[in-house]
Amino acid sequence: MGHLLDDLAVIVDTSGILTGNDIGSRYTDTRGHGAAGVPACVLRPTSTAQVSSILKLCNDAGRTVVPQGGMTGLVGGGTPGDGDVVLSLERMNVIEEIDSTGRTMIAEAGVVLETAHDAADDAGFVLPIDLGARGSATLGGLISTNAGGNRVIRYGMTRQSVLGLEVVLADGTVLTSMNRMLKNNAGYDLKQMFIGSEGTLCIVTRCVLRLQPKPLTTSTAFVGMNDFQSVIGFLALLDSRLGGDLGAFEVMWSEYYDFVGERCPTLKPPLPAEHKFYVLTDALGADPDGDKERFEAVLEVAHNQGLIQNGVIAQSDADREGLWAIREGAWEGFRTLGPMFTYDVSMPILTMDGFATRAMVEIEAVFPFATTLILGHLGDGNLHAVVAVGDGSGLAHRKVNDILYGIIRDLGGSVSAEHGIGTEKLDYLSWSRTDAEVEVMRALKRMLDPKGILNPGKVL
Ligand SMILES: Cc1cc2nc3c(=O)[nH]c(=O)nc-3n(C[C@H](O)[C@H](O)[C@H](O)COP(=O)(O)OP(=O)(O)OC[C@H]3O[C@@H](n4cnc5c(N)ncnc54)[C@H](O)[C@@H]3O)c2cc1C
Repeated sequence: MGHLLDDLAVIVDTSGILTGNDIGSRYTDTRGHGAAGVPACVLRPTSTAQVSSILKLCNDAGRTVVPQGGMTGLVGGGTPGDGDVVLSLERMNVIEEIDSTGRTMIAEAGVVLETAHDAADDAGFVLPIDLGARGSATLGGLISTNAGGNRVIRYGMTRQSVLGLEVVLADGTVLTSMNRMLKNNAGYDLKQMFIGSEGTLCIVTRCVLRLQPKPLTTSTAFVGMNDFQSVIGFLALLDSRLGGDLGAFEVMWSEYYDFVGERCPTLKPPLPAEHKFYVLTDALGADPDGDKERFEAVLEVAHNQGLIQNGVIAQSDADREGLWAIREGAWEGFRTLGPMFTYDVSMPILTMDGFATRAMVEIEAVFPFATTLILGHLGDGNLHAVVAVGDGSGLAHRKVNDILYGIIRDLGGSVSAEHGIGTEKLDYLSWSRTDAEVEVMRALKRMLDPKGILNPGKVL
């Protein structure tokens, strides 16, 4: 490694390489998803040319490379093993251009999402990719995981916001496809193969993102309902009556809502805990004179049709934040559960309630004192589950995984809706993908990274 380290140090200069005790916990914090090894070094390049030179050297030497962004991933995708070279894009953090006419942003991969939001906002637009880790997650990480989040129902996954991409392949080849147009059918759309590849096929260095007009109004409601058919009916009603303004549709099963009331003293549940389901919904509109009335009118129709039993409408930004905190801010309660396992799965919407019921029954049959909390982005077919069984061992985790992913397999769903596979779900990829699909993935990996240096042991 000695010579290689010296050569790598020449590429990034002394401020761009960390070794030994200088490697801080930022680069090895797994968020409880597996255990990190001791990396040989951390490299912090400042340009695509440097990334290319690093990969060429590492590929020639057969040295494994683990790309990292903000390290907020939830499946261990950025976790280094012993002797890996960590490639952190954190210093490639320049927003190069915002084109107000074409509604695009060109940025480097290490730009933090919140910084990109602020820049889009200053230019009068919105970058619609959004999630709870916005203060740390980077554009490169979001693209490499094809992240979802709260606005997918309106704007799609990260993939739908990426127009162009610059990546570096394992052998150092720079592939620049910085397309700015919505339409470009000149041959294969190579970027689609790299989006969501979790650092196993390339290093993302720069991107062209699509910006959207800024909504002028946000209307938010939190409602209670008594059966799952009503939840589906309410979604259909909002979809058809809001003229494309539906911005979020988050559902919480009663077990989750009751838990928030009991274990999260800083949160204020807005409704009595007497319903089977709770929905938090946002409408993002462009008519300050009419949106509020239209939103309230649709809620009234839902009430008259018996879809919703009770509800509150946010009257201020503070109200809105309080309602969203019920959905996003239950961490203080989760901490009281002891060891817990978290899940991110998707399935056809009609099967969701059956999934939730089966999950609770089957987990309790094995772990009688289990807590199973279910919530999610219902409009996107995406549910999250938090399961605590009073035992954080690998064996208990495996048992719960087998139960939940087994139900998902029966339903034709996905073991990963938005977080990716990383190391966490390696054993379950084939539960959601056919043998032929996995073999094509392996063939792509062999073609683009024949020595297997990029993020080894992840995804496949
Ligand atoms: C509080 C919280 C809320 C979250 N909410 C959501 C949510 O709603 N939806 C959702 O989808 N995710 C969510 N996440 C997960 C996480 O934020 C996303 O996966 C995010 O995309 C990761 O970005 P990052 O920069 O932190 O990437 P990292 O965690 O550093 O890396 C993630 C993966 O991408 C690879 N990678 C990183 N940068 C590059 C690059 N430049 N080139 C190639 N590969 C790269 C890494 O090797 C790794 O495999 C949440 C996480 C937290 C902590």
